[in-house]
Amino acid sequence: MSDCIFCKIISKEIPCDFLYEDDKCLIFKDINPKAKTHFLIISRKHIPSIAEMASGDEVIIGHLVNCAKNIAENFSLSGYKLQFNVGKDGGQEVFHVHLHLISNFG
Ligand code: AMP
Ligand code: ZN
Repeated sequence: MSDCIFCKIISKEIPCDFLYEDDKCLIFKDINPKAKTHFLIISRKHIPSIAEMASGDEVIIGHLVNCAKNIAENFSLSGYKLQFNVGKDGGQEVFHVHLHLISNFG
C-alpha cells in the first residue's frame, strides 16, 4: 500500500525507533507515547484492521500477541495493556493492523 505510513516504515522509506523484526512483524516505539512504555507491534502484511482480517490472518494476529509478550519480558515489564483499536469509531487512526503495548511498570 503506497500511501500507508506503516508500510513505509516496513520498507524503510520512513524511519522509526526500531526494536525488533521477524518474517511476520515489526516492533517500534510509538511516536506519541501514552505511557512510560508504548510500543507498536505491526504486521508485515497490510491488513487494514482487525475487522478486515482474511482467512489465515489469525496466525499473524496470534504472532503479534506472542511477540508483544516476548518483548514485554525482555523489557521486564511486570504488567501491561495490549490494545487493538478497530475502525474509526474504535479510535483507529492508522489503517494497518497494529497492537499497542502500553505500560507504566518497567
Ligand atoms: P491507532 O489510533 O490505533 O491507529 O494508533 C496509531 C498509533 O500510531 C498512534 O499511537 C500514533 O502515535 C502512532 N504513530 C503514527 N505515526 C507514527 C510513526 N511514524 N512512528 C511511530 N508511531 C506512529
Ligand atoms: Zn500498510
